[in-house]
Amino acid sequence: MSIGRIIGAIAAAFLIALGLMFLIAFTVSQQVGVIVAGLVMIGIGIVVLLILFVWRKPTQVRITERTEVVQKVDLSGELTPEELKCSSCGAELDKRAVTVDPSGAVVISCPYCNSVYHLAEQPKW
Ligand SMILES: [Zn+2]
Repeated sequence: MSIGRIIGAIAAAFLIALGLMFLIAFTVSQQVGVIVAGLVMIGIGIVVLLILFVWRKPTQVRITERTEVVQKVDLSGELTPEELKCSSCGAELDKRAVTVDPSGAVVISCPYCNSVYHLAEQPKW
């Protein structure tokens, strides 16, 4: 572990501790600015910790993301066009309307009324 990483970890721990103190202060003072400042400090501290300790293995993270996307696309391939109908306007949706969003979820967007559906929430239509 490098010195820079140790200093970063200490700074992040200090920020999180300070943020927690702000949250405790909020229970006394009830001022919104205090809780916002506390949450921002905790957020920055967590982000710094993530960068320090998770950033090391970017290759492995990318591989798992790819596997998830492939599995979900396979699921959408099992659906026939007849099963896909827009519940807002009743239009038939073909497989070209099925896309995978950046988070890896399968979404279907209606080209007629622009309704967007998440396939995982309604697996059987
Ligand atoms: Zn529609």
